[in-house]
Amino acid sequence: MQPTSASQFQAAASDGVPPLEEIRDRLYSYGLRQPGTLPHYTLSHLLIDSTGAVHIIDAGWDTDENWDRLLETLTALDRGISDVASVTVTHLHPDHLGLAARVRAASGATVAIHRIEQDGIRELSTPVRDEDSHAQLAEWGVPAERQPELAAAAQLRSRWPSFTADRLLEDGESLDIPGFDVRAVHTPGHTSGHLVFVDEEREVVFLGDLLLPNQFPGIGLGGSPDGNPIDHYLASLDTVSAWDSFEALPGHGYRFTGIAARCAETAAHHEKRTSEVAAVQHPDSTVWEIAGGLTWTAGWGALSGLPLLSALSQTALHLERARRLDSR
Ligand SMILES: [Zn+2]
Repeated sequence: MQPTSASQFQAAASDGVPPLEEIRDRLYSYGLRQPGTLPHYTLSHLLIDSTGAVHIIDAGWDTDENWDRLLETLTALDRGISDVASVTVTHLHPDHLGLAARVRAASGATVAIHRIEQDGIRELSTPVRDEDSHAQLAEWGVPAERQPELAAAAQLRSRWPSFTADRLLEDGESLDIPGFDVRAVHTPGHTSGHLVFVDEEREVVFLGDLLLPNQFPGIGLGGSPDGNPIDHYLASLDTVSAWDSFEALPGHGYRFTGIAARCAETAAHHEKRTSEVAAVQHPDSTVWEIAGGLTWTAGWGALSGLPLLSALSQTALHLERARRLDSR
């Protein structure tokens, strides 16, 4: 894997945010800060079509700072907010979808997302019932005294703003951008309706959070998946490996070449996790016991609230997979 942007690479290694840069003819990218979370910025892409209109791929967090930065960036490109014709997002997370609502309100832009992500938004903006959370936590073997904290975290996670997109995308569809041929490819795993976008002419892939150069994306972080999202995720890595000769434009970090090698590293990371789970589990061990026997970056004892809930759900996915592979 080779970084292809010095300024993005430097920003990723510091607390900076990448400046506007031209990647190809009529294709630009810049960074928008994420408030209080890691990674510390999202890469947003601007495409200027043959009529002069602007199309955004991934919009960044909805903050006043980011809104001002978008307006300044459009000015730098001799455009204004009313020139924005569409916003297309790789997935439903607020660091990608966030600013889309404000852009649409100001410009009338069309917002596009995969059909499954629209269902995911509906699901995640519906408060979870406390008894459902407790039933899940009990099934995972979470001790009763830790359940209230995790049920509260689950509540927090379900407080998403509702949002209705204007266009629902399916795998293989082209975006409506005159002078560009950008195709949506369904790549589930990080979320169930995650999309990457391929521009064969410019030889770039907009990766969203499917594949990142400097971290391993989480899995199963959208609406309820149909099956185990680890399986979907590994299949999606296979799918994008086909564009190995293209430049990767990820949602965070820096652009790079060497997609197939990074896919292989990322797949190996998850395969290793499944093996670790397989090694510590017994037929009657619970998700809670298994998670406590694994290595966590923050340390198992230090995990609480949302990070702990996320650690348990990732462990449950690996456990299901480990047991299924073992029974073959
Ligand atoms: Zn993201």
